[in-house]
Amino acid sequence: MTAKWNIVLAAIAIPFFLFASLSCRKTESGKAGATAALIQAPDIAERLAKYAPTEIFVDPASLNAEDRRVVNKLIEAAQVLDEIYWKQTYPQGPALAARLRASADPADKPALDFFLLNFGPFDRSDENKPFLGIDKKPLGAGFYPLDLTKEEFEKYIAANPSERAALENEFRVIKRENGRLAAVPYSIEYKPELERMAVRLNEAAALTSNLSLHAYLSRRAADLLSNDYYESDCLWIDLKDNFPEIVIGPYEVYEDALLGLKASYESYVYINDFEGMKKLHAYLDHLDEMQRTLPVEQKYKDQSVKGLSSPLNVVNEVFTAGDARAGIMTSAFVLPNDERVREKKGSKKVFLKNMMEAKFSKSLVPIAARVMAPADAAQVTFDAYFVEVLLHEICHALGLNYVTLPDGTKTTVGKALRDLNTPIEEAKADVLGIQSVPLLVQRGVLAKERQDEIYASYLAGMFRVMRFGATEAHGLGVLLQFNFLREKGAFVFDAASGKFAVDRAKIEGSVRELAARFLILEGDGDYAKAQAFIARYGKMDAPTKAALDALKDIPVDIAPIFKTIY
Ligand code: ZN
Repeated sequence: MTAKWNIVLAAIAIPFFLFASLSCRKTESGKAGATAALIQAPDIAERLAKYAPTEIFVDPASLNAEDRRVVNKLIEAAQVLDEIYWKQTYPQGPALAARLRASADPADKPALDFFLLNFGPFDRSDENKPFLGIDKKPLGAGFYPLDLTKEEFEKYIAANPSERAALENEFRVIKRENGRLAAVPYSIEYKPELERMAVRLNEAAALTSNLSLHAYLSRRAADLLSNDYYESDCLWIDLKDNFPEIVIGPYEVYEDALLGLKASYESYVYINDFEGMKKLHAYLDHLDEMQRTLPVEQKYKDQSVKGLSSPLNVVNEVFTAGDARAGIMTSAFVLPNDERVREKKGSKKVFLKNMMEAKFSKSLVPIAARVMAPADAAQVTFDAYFVEVLLHEICHALGLNYVTLPDGTKTTVGKALRDLNTPIEEAKADVLGIQSVPLLVQRGVLAKERQDEIYASYLAGMFRVMRFGATEAHGLGVLLQFNFLREKGAFVFDAASGKFAVDRAKIEGSVRELAARFLILEGDGDYAKAQAFIARYGKMDAPTKAALDALKDIPVDIAPIFKTIY
């Protein structure tokens, strides 16, 4: 660790207490606050290099004048939201960013960029360990008093049960007031920012000629100030026939690591991709046939497919703010989270296509070039990769939902397979998607040349996922498929070149076989059998490990650069 910059605190017009949580080295005189240095992790530049700066935008020519004006207003509203998110995650953030920006030390440039990327001095992809200063990230971020513990919170609620609903409310921050805990509504705590956001949203509402967007934006503007998001969440589900849309408000609670109660503000501004959705619907039109032709006995597949739990939307991202822009970029989201809205209106799953394409070109393409035989690497295309992602999503609906156990009890697959359900269900969705490809080609929904590209992209994508760890559910699910297909000779390793390739003669049949294995594991709901399958196929061999080790310098994600005026 090296001390890289010196600051004269006295010269800065922000109170010293703002920096109290950062570690400042005292001067020789010992007077805190006279001069102080901030400890920086020595490898910030290398950490930053894992995120490839990439422009994320939509071709302005694809939007008409009205849409461009609306988009500009929506971006302005989302920019205000960033100010709230700083208060929620790291209140000292804007002041520290300003100081880094003003610094003449060249080492502070990567520090600033990495600080902004993480929305604070804690590395989100390394368990929130600090890279500026040495203090740990407060579990409760900016939602609670810094000294409040989970135990104290729970004890307080037990002693004051009438205050429980307010204190646990996802849209209220907790403060200490006269020896008590007070639950302050977001609409009061962040009032100045929310009022400015509401003005922008109302301006956007006045600019759009789309009635559903007008209704959503004006209602959302009002809801930001009333702290009740139900009505506008419902209206978001009803949005239709318009190019620009926005998600804006408090949603996910992950930033609250103290109690997991408090929602963080986030925003996505995006443009609907109606062409992309048309393609997706063409796959969905074949869902029943995909089910009928699954390579298993009838008892392992429902008579009719239930359909998807949430409708899928394909969009291109224009701008993100707050929680949506902290750390690793989101490729897809499902909102809203409010159970009452989900019950009444359902939810929407939104795929951010251009974001996925950016990640694809900055990380999957170089991975393929390094681990795959050149002829196969050349077949890794975004179109194929995107088809695969969509097929994965719709194939969750295939197979069985309920199983009857040997003792006669009827239960869900998830309950029968418990902790093993996620890796198996995720792997099932992957492999069922791939096994549906020949059918979709036959039916003319997919171009013939896409088939080989999909097999190549399937293999490349496995290395991308395994790279994030083969012990968590998704990584394990991929490792199971990879090892099974290696055993069948559908994926081959060439020791001389150290590269992997697809055996085109074997892949189709092996994928069907693997699809059947997963469907039967789920349909039997037999925990011990699932465990045995994982024990057999869940271990990584030396060539695979070596291939993954050689990927260390390839970016893990992108750092988005947004166009802010259309
Ligand atoms: Zn999935």
